[in-house]
Amino acid sequence: MMAALRAQHILKLSAERQREFVNSFDVVFCDCDGVMWLIAAPLPHTGDAVNTLKANGKQVIFVTNNSIRTDDEYVKLFSGIGVKNFQKNDIIHPAKSMVYYLKKHNIKQPVFSLCGTASNTTLRSGGIDVRTLDVTQPITTATLPEITEPKEKVGAVLFDINMDLNYTQMVAGTRYLADKDCQFLAGGTDWLLPMTPNLTVPGFCDFLETIQRFTKRPATILSKPSLLLGEIVKDIYQLKDPKRCLFVGDSLTHDIRFGLGCGFQTLLVLSGSTPIEEMLAAPVEDQPHYYADGISDFLKLYENICKKA
Ligand SMILES: [Mg+2]
Repeated sequence: MMAALRAQHILKLSAERQREFVNSFDVVFCDCDGVMWLIAAPLPHTGDAVNTLKANGKQVIFVTNNSIRTDDEYVKLFSGIGVKNFQKNDIIHPAKSMVYYLKKHNIKQPVFSLCGTASNTTLRSGGIDVRTLDVTQPITTATLPEITEPKEKVGAVLFDINMDLNYTQMVAGTRYLADKDCQFLAGGTDWLLPMTPNLTVPGFCDFLETIQRFTKRPATILSKPSLLLGEIVKDIYQLKDPKRCLFVGDSLTHDIRFGLGCGFQTLLVLSGSTPIEEMLAAPVEDQPHYYADGISDFLKLYENICKKA
């Protein structure tokens, strides 16, 4: 449990405390949307900040709830904002966690996916036999029962952010889930998606809730703030000491709660979904250890340390 102190701005620490702070972690787990960019708009100097952390010996791994890009697209995006030497395994998101989970639990049957196209690509390149329901014609009450009928036994139903999700596919998902042996894995739990500085749209959590409520099947959640994701991340990246990890994110309810639950140090950036008023109003035990205006504050912090060294 963190000390009963309000979060401190990393640029308002003394140079000595700043030095102690950067020496207190080896691994940075970093959210993407609201930290590195907004979903559909850039944030300044974020790539430079990551390069600076790496140049100072930190391992930087991205942990996002957003599987709407393939590995190749993420590589392009990170290169585009100037992150040097970004590798496919430097990022984890729900679709990758699903691959890990299905393999770990030896689920070899096909899966029925309600996930988006990029997630399905990620799942397939992870060796998963993915089945989907394409709805190409208008559906009526007369055709719904047949088109949503389970076509085969599946090992799991997968749910994630999916801009093309429709009602018919959701109904099909509920029918596969009538089989109690069929597992139910989900990401897409964010309730807000900040697209640009002027546009935030609803997330997919209510669609997931609809399926859970109707089937009375709670999904196994593989996105932040699920601690199961924490176990997966610790296993994949062979983490020895959670206290030597810093989690950087813009969401108090997803990133900071996740980081605190995993035993990481936490840093909230104000460049995304959480205004400072919300952070200050939160109970002290839900607050981050540190906060910053953006991840680019690490540039000023390192500059400051070097100057006064
Ligand atoms: Mg975020």
